[in-house]
Amino acid sequence: MDTMTTEVDVLQPGALWWNWFGEQYFVPRYTARPRTEEEARHAVLAARKLKLPVRASGAGHSNPAVVPTPGVHVDFDGMRDVISVDREKLQVTIQPGMRVGEVSRYLRTVGMSLNNQGDIDTQTVVGAIATGTHGAGITLPCMSMQMIAARIVTADGDFLDLSAEKDGELFRAFRCSIGLFGLVVSVTLQAVPSYNIHKISWNADVEDCIGGLHQRLETNRTFWFFWLPVKKSAELYVLPGGVVPSTATRENDICHMRVYNAVPVDEAAPALKEGEQFDHSSVIFPNPYIPNFREIEYAVPFGRFEEAFAEVRHLFQTKYPEALYPVECRPVKADDSYISAYAERDGYALSISGPLEFETWGMLKEMDALLDRYDARPHWGKHHFMSAERLERIYPRYDDFKRTRREIDPDGVFLNDHLRSLFA
Ligand SMILES: Cc1cc2nc3c(=O)[nH]c(=O)nc-3n(C[C@H](O)[C@H](O)[C@H](O)COP(=O)(O)OP(=O)(O)OC[C@H]3O[C@@H](n4cnc5c(N)ncnc54)[C@H](O)[C@@H]3O)c2cc1C
Repeated sequence: MDTMTTEVDVLQPGALWWNWFGEQYFVPRYTARPRTEEEARHAVLAARKLKLPVRASGAGHSNPAVVPTPGVHVDFDGMRDVISVDREKLQVTIQPGMRVGEVSRYLRTVGMSLNNQGDIDTQTVVGAIATGTHGAGITLPCMSMQMIAARIVTADGDFLDLSAEKDGELFRAFRCSIGLFGLVVSVTLQAVPSYNIHKISWNADVEDCIGGLHQRLETNRTFWFFWLPVKKSAELYVLPGGVVPSTATRENDICHMRVYNAVPVDEAAPALKEGEQFDHSSVIFPNPYIPNFREIEYAVPFGRFEEAFAEVRHLFQTKYPEALYPVECRPVKADDSYISAYAERDGYALSISGPLEFETWGMLKEMDALLDRYDARPHWGKHHFMSAERLERIYPRYDDFKRTRREIDPDGVFLNDHLRSLFA
């Protein structure tokens, strides 16, 4: 097949796309569903000829308009395999459509685990890396730090192989870059030896949770909690309401807490008590969610978390006593990216949600203003109210990120309206 034929073949009439929440949807001019790296390259070449912009999607689990494009939408669902694995170095190279859970379960079969992952596993690894998706733990950075190399198709339709070892600052900018540097056609991850997780869940009063916070953070690989304003909150996030032990002295205004500790796979399982589970990391990490919420998630500096949390709780209790959704709070270690929420700063993520109703925006906007006083940074896969001016204030490397983006994509092929307003 010659080049011209491939370019034409790879573009199909634009198909309706919508995200997991149904909040974002669009019909692009063309949809490309590449099955090979070469086909992905030809999608960019064809878009360039037609002077159209390009955006890729993963599993569509992000809230904001990080995918929509009027031009060429590249859907990587047809590229979902492991490319290679290095059992000595514990590294795996995968295609861009692979879901976190698919990689995690594959790694188990070859004696490895992901060092950390978020609380669902149905998003793609590439999408998770692109937005700085994270789990919880003061020693555990976001998933962008698990990437050690990647192959991208640049705006010129060339392949560019990037690695942490070889590309220094360029790789730091690329680590968390919301699909702005090009189409990612493969990614290499640094995994760790396979481990099981001993998980303990329980409910307690807020005072107990916050009072014991630092001790629990320091003595466990992972400690995180959901603040439940009312009893009903638990079921909105499919949290195990009545089936975990509880020391809470009341029904409302309590915390659901979780501890995860890693146990090498050759060690015996502990005797399990009520509220405890023990299984492979690929089994314990994922949790069920239903698309019933509108969410912002901002990271405040680690040392200011308790103050920020107290203010958020106070605002809920005084102004939004009818609010039902849990507030999820997770610590994340600093990384070396330019614009992840944890770029060179240990952080504490506060995720704040309401129902998928118009009124929720007002509450989220007020939380945004509150958290801005903490120089809070957004999760790029969740709603936020950022402006270019604000990003300049909260990210020391913001100008470097924009300059690098312009160098790699001077014509803005991988921008869309949402991202142009922030990073052009
Ligand atoms: C129920 C639920 C639970 C979640 N839990 C967590 C959590 O625990 N922790 C957390 O931090 N986040 C969490 N998130 C957020 C989620 O991890 C991010 O939104 C993530 O980016 C979604 O990945 P995706 O595969 O759906 O990518 P998409 O949302 O489809 O895309 C994300 C970005 O990646 C880009 N992209 C994707 N593939 C490519 C490619 N091949 N080349 C170039 N660019 C590409 C897209 O253009 C877009 O900019 C959760 C989201 C949901 C809905």
